[in-house]
Amino acid sequence: MEKRIVILGAGESGTGAAILAKKQSCDVFVSDIDKIKSFYKEILYNYEIDWEEGKHTERLILNADEIIKSPGISEKSEIVQLIRKKGIRIISEIEFAGRFTYAKKICVTGSNGKTTTTSLIHHMLRKAGLNAGMAGNIGRSFAMQVATENYDYYVLEISSFQLDGMYEFKADIAILLNITPDHLDRYDYDIQNYVNSKMRITQNLSEDDYFIYCSDDEITIRELERIVMRAKQLGFTQKEKKQQGAYIENDQMKINVDTDEFSMSLADLSLRGKHNIYNSMAAGITGNVLQIRKETIRESLMDFIGVEHRLEKLIKVHGIEFINDSKATNVNSTWYALESMTTPVIWIAGGIDKGNDYNDLMDIVKQKVKAMVCLGADNTKLHQAFEGIVENIVDARSMKEAVQMAYYLGTDGDTVLLSPACASFDLFENYEDRGRQYKNCVREL
Ligand code: ADP
Repeated sequence: MEKRIVILGAGESGTGAAILAKKQSCDVFVSDIDKIKSFYKEILYNYEIDWEEGKHTERLILNADEIIKSPGISEKSEIVQLIRKKGIRIISEIEFAGRFTYAKKICVTGSNGKTTTTSLIHHMLRKAGLNAGMAGNIGRSFAMQVATENYDYYVLEISSFQLDGMYEFKADIAILLNITPDHLDRYDYDIQNYVNSKMRITQNLSEDDYFIYCSDDEITIRELERIVMRAKQLGFTQKEKKQQGAYIENDQMKINVDTDEFSMSLADLSLRGKHNIYNSMAAGITGNVLQIRKETIRESLMDFIGVEHRLEKLIKVHGIEFINDSKATNVNSTWYALESMTTPVIWIAGGIDKGNDYNDLMDIVKQKVKAMVCLGADNTKLHQAFEGIVENIVDARSMKEAVQMAYYLGTDGDTVLLSPACASFDLFENYEDRGRQYKNCVREL
């Protein structure tokens, strides 16, 4: 009998999984509690896949052999609880797609830097002439590409929610950039649950595989002491010299993999900021592990353009520089954004707080921020945290208002930085919408 696969959530990953399952001759059904976008409906229709929207019909879901859940659906939702009670296995789209490809998988996870590093590695692989796709939380879903493309390599950006539904999946190169508190609302406000989820990137690694990690990250180091790992481990650090992996010496990034040595000047890296040195190190080690030519590694780290909404420089208006870091949805990424600022900053922050502890920002805010514009439906927590620390704190209700206020507060030589440290769903559709609105408002000044 055909295997019945039910897919919860008809977004990018769900639709991709449905197509792949259909191609594997499964009996496929897609269920979405919200309205399905017409773009995805059309795809489902073309592939003759059954679907429903605006509801979860239990009779059609609880008869599944296996369920693929979109990473956006919480474990606490009613339907997931029912499925768990029935004992049906729930997996993620990445787990499912991983079963049907022989391609080498380079998997990037961490609290911050995933998209940047994934894109950078993909750029490097393409430059090296490798037949490489990029997927995960980025662009077209992994499942869709496995169903319709024929890549030899995949660079995958993997979130903790995807990892939660991964069991047998194995990376060939696993990269863990950092672990700092994020998404605690989905992890019962217990950071260890979130940490455990991130560490799943190491599961099933064999002696032939590589684990690349930040050895300056305290949580990662602590966790590494607790688990048994068979893979070859390569750490990167900005604090000390290392025999293997990556480190900094005399403003040079140095990488050693086995007996291979690579070095390049930090000034040549296209991505700016301390956090991006880490991302470049992770990419550089990966390039070395894959034995890509040194010249190609160097060139890709030099000419990578960066990704929209991540410390993206916009225009200068009357000497005031505007930077769009809308993707900074947690405290740690905002810390790095502020750290990389070299002028006084007017900081636009706020949105939906995912359990933020603003204490971590106190020192850097004292050093860099001259005024603050709070842009959220509820700014109470920001006021409580920064009153007395930042001299001038104002509230805005829309992006237009926020940009105008920030512009008004700035003078020649300042920087206006949108780096919210919060999710965007209170006032915007998503972080892209927030970033785009910011860019439009800046253009209109
Ligand atoms: P992710 O995909 O993990 O959310 P992004 O590459 O989209 O990461 O970057 C998200 C935010 O984090 C941006 O604001 C960026 O400036 C910041 N960031 C990027 N890399 C790092 C890093 N290694 N450590 C901390 N913050 C980072």
